[in-house]
Amino acid sequence: MSELKRYQMLIDGEWVDAGDGQTFESLNPATGAAWAEIPAATAEDVDRAVAAAHRAYSQGPWSKMTATQRGKLLRKLGDLLADNSEHLGRTESVDTGKLFKETRWQAAYIADFFHYYAGLADKVHGDTFPIDKPDLCVFTLREPLGVIAAVVPWNSQLFLTAVKLGPALAAGNAVVLKASEHASAAMLEFGKLIEAAGIPPGVVNIVTGFGEPCGRVLTTHPLVTRISFTGGPETARHIVRNSAENFAEVSLELGGKSPFMVLDDADLESAANGSVAGIFGASGQSCVAGSRVYLHDSIADDFLDRLVNQARQIKIGDPLAEETQMGPLATLGQLKHIEKEVAHAKEQGANILHGGRPPAQLNAGWFYEPTIVDCPAQDLRIVDTELFGPVVSVLRFKTEEELIEKANDTKYGLACGIFTRDVARALRLAKATRAGIVWVNTYRVVSPIAEFGGYKDSGYGRESGFQAIYDYTRPKTVWVNTSSEPIANPFVMR
Ligand code: NAD
Repeated sequence: MSELKRYQMLIDGEWVDAGDGQTFESLNPATGAAWAEIPAATAEDVDRAVAAAHRAYSQGPWSKMTATQRGKLLRKLGDLLADNSEHLGRTESVDTGKLFKETRWQAAYIADFFHYYAGLADKVHGDTFPIDKPDLCVFTLREPLGVIAAVVPWNSQLFLTAVKLGPALAAGNAVVLKASEHASAAMLEFGKLIEAAGIPPGVVNIVTGFGEPCGRVLTTHPLVTRISFTGGPETARHIVRNSAENFAEVSLELGGKSPFMVLDDADLESAANGSVAGIFGASGQSCVAGSRVYLHDSIADDFLDRLVNQARQIKIGDPLAEETQMGPLATLGQLKHIEKEVAHAKEQGANILHGGRPPAQLNAGWFYEPTIVDCPAQDLRIVDTELFGPVVSVLRFKTEEELIEKANDTKYGLACGIFTRDVARALRLAKATRAGIVWVNTYRVVSPIAEFGGYKDSGYGRESGFQAIYDYTRPKTVWVNTSSEPIANPFVMR
């Protein structure tokens, strides 16, 4: 008899198996062992989920609620998240290998995202126009878009869900969430809170499965009006091409290879801490990982001594243990990818200052040491390849011009870190950097109040912040003739 925990999907308010009964196993990255069984949605399952969302949006009680009522439900959902952060955090940790202390904290903090959008729900409105013709009153109504397809990757399932679900629901849409095949459990646990919050059936549906057919059928569905995607650039390309099927609006939060700049006047202790947070936090499995460190020649050796020293002391192991500082990688495929790229960097002349292999003391799970790769040149493949792991490429610069040129010499443009005590320099560099998020003397901080998103292959569209709720609405322009006279005969020119 299987001892795996069995999950079901949430479609139209019911917990269901896949239509054909197919499942797949979810593996615990700390042990490599299967721990849960997840339904593999069929095309018909996805179709039912979208149809349910469409009914909920267009006919159900959700469609009749005021914005204030929707806000109250979202507030309740946020409260429930905070109350259940321990359980959600533990589930996500077992499923993805992310540190329990981080997933628990994150689940509690995500409550703030729902509270933020709960407050915004009834503050979104249309405009009136001083129109250039007599006897007309012209205004816009702000309407929800309809059915939103929200597709997320395996890292930070709940966080990446919240930044989509919060504004989408506040604006009155219905949503079909697609969990990652590598980490579905936390999202399904979260689904139970959606029910408990009193959000009507069909407003939020959760489907689990693979890109084919689940992701493809969802994002090409004719009833889907917006696709909010977070994941890798290759999948994003499929989605953008596929959106020609339904002309859905698309927003993309993709990968990164973010530069982390340390100038000659930087507080080196602070910069080293920022760099450790930026690349070894979450085992580097963060889209904003500061994976390219640029050091001014004059402080490079000092900074590297500090970084290597800190890397040496990082405690790697069981992600559920409070003392652990770095857990495993989420998948075996990730580990293999990283091993291949580090080996290739060595062949191209890179010098491994620390790490560069799985830790010898751990013989199960997909662990990799915090790794510092000293790169002799910018054109090494590792410098512009997203590894999504605890591996940092180190490069040196002499002038600000050289720094900017190298930092922008990438296909990505998500985040950037700047460490300097000179505000003018920081602002100069912030303006010159082609990245959607710039952190000065800090790193990897996010908030529901501030926008988040990238340039170039890091995607388009923004999440979080006030604007996000507008992105889940569209204006409808209403023209009202206020004259008491009949309208003119169109064939008589005046
Ligand atoms: P991925 O692109 O492989 O998968 C993401 C999701 O897309 C999964 O749910 C997957 O099943 C689904 N999918 C796959 N094929 C599909 C298709 N044809 N149509 C529709 N959906 C499909 O990404 P991943 O490996 O799970 O995640 C890692 C990537 O995500 C990295 O590149 C990382 O940088 C990025 N990421 C970006 C952000 C951000 O906010 N910018 C945040 C986290 C992760």
